[in-house]
Amino acid sequence: MAVPQNRTTRSRRDMRRSHDALVAANPAECPNCGELKRPHHVCGACGHYDSREVIAQTAVESDDDAA
Ligand SMILES: [Zn+2]
Repeated sequence: MAVPQNRTTRSRRDMRRSHDALVAANPAECPNCGELKRPHHVCGACGHYDSREVIAQTAVESDDDAA
């Protein structure tokens, strides 16, 4: 098993971790339905992108329960 030759100091360790912070999401309002959506992504609520419906939405949402 490989073993580190030198101990990583608290300073080196913490400097490495200075880039590890998570960045908060930046949601934007969907121009079609007003739901919050991720920028440059299809709206998960209405399936619209760039003012077009790119994912057909079914009126009845019982497809998952059909099985
Ligand atoms: Zn939408």
